[in-house]
Amino acid sequence: MNLLSIVVPCFNEDESVEIFLEEIQKTLKDYNFEVIYVNDGSSDNTLKYIKELASKNSNVKYISFSRNFGKESAIFAGLKYASGDYICLMDADLQHPPKLIPEMLEAVLDEGYDVAAARRVSRKGEPKIKSFFSHRFYKVFNRISDIDMVEGATDYRIMTRQVVDSVLNLPEYNRFSKGLFQWVGFDTKWIEYENIERIAGESTWSFWGLIKYSIEGLVAFTTLPLSVSTFLGMVFSVIAFIYMLFIIIRYLIYSEAVPGYPTLICSLLLLGGIQLLSIGVLGKYLEKTYFEAKNRPIFIVQESNIDEE
Ligand code: UDP
Ligand code: MG
Repeated sequence: MNLLSIVVPCFNEDESVEIFLEEIQKTLKDYNFEVIYVNDGSSDNTLKYIKELASKNSNVKYISFSRNFGKESAIFAGLKYASGDYICLMDADLQHPPKLIPEMLEAVLDEGYDVAAARRVSRKGEPKIKSFFSHRFYKVFNRISDIDMVEGATDYRIMTRQVVDSVLNLPEYNRFSKGLFQWVGFDTKWIEYENIERIAGESTWSFWGLIKYSIEGLVAFTTLPLSVSTFLGMVFSVIAFIYMLFIIIRYLIYSEAVPGYPTLICSLLLLGGIQLLSIGVLGKYLEKTYFEAKNRPIFIVQESNIDEE
């Protein structure tokens, strides 16, 4: 029977890990599965609880990081350590309803899809402003990057071994999984569900955290902003040049002292702003190359009950 590996990134989820396992066991009574908890440097009792669960259930595995490396790193580690023929990625807080698993499995087992992924259709219980920005993000992202992201797409998905190996073959340090999953391609079936609030604990995302995350995503998948700053720089240089000619000619004709003090300040500020913005954009890409060039590991395992292959 095919093995299904369920990869669960956990950061301070001590209230959720056990309920999560119970739900999975209920849903997957007739399946051959393993749960791989990735403890992403939690500061609460997550690791202790996970180890307890692992000692009681032979199909519970864990990887524990030496510190918090972030969800993207936890996903990467989990996928790397998973040995299943099919791999499922899920949040620990049960915001990804386990009842979708059978339907997802059917899609990859019987319907010939390579990926079955969940798509959140309602954003009930979420701040309006978050939904608004999220919607804008998908619009902008799809317009200026080479890949098309489905709005509401989540990390909750079941993938075949082949897809997972393709994702693992992308060695980049700055990982924007949602984009990477899309980038590798393959046939994906989207399964829709309504937003659910987390069962316990708190979301670790802050508003600024999400803004940062969306910038990371954009920078990882498009270099258009680089061209935009070059373009803006060019446009404004031309305008400045024409304006300069205009002033010189006006001086030659009317020979009056230049009264345009406000214009001067305005254009100074505008150009200065655009320069700073462009340098910022450049810096962002430079930062990315800098980190890729360092070639640092994506995560560091402190302990685990899985033998490394
Ligand atoms: N998570 C993680 N490392 C982090 C932050 C979050 O492994 O640094 C895990 C977290 O334990 C949960 C999942 O990622 O299983 C989703 O996190 P969260 O529920 O905070 O995000 P949201 O559902 O609000 O998008
Ligand atoms: Mg959550």
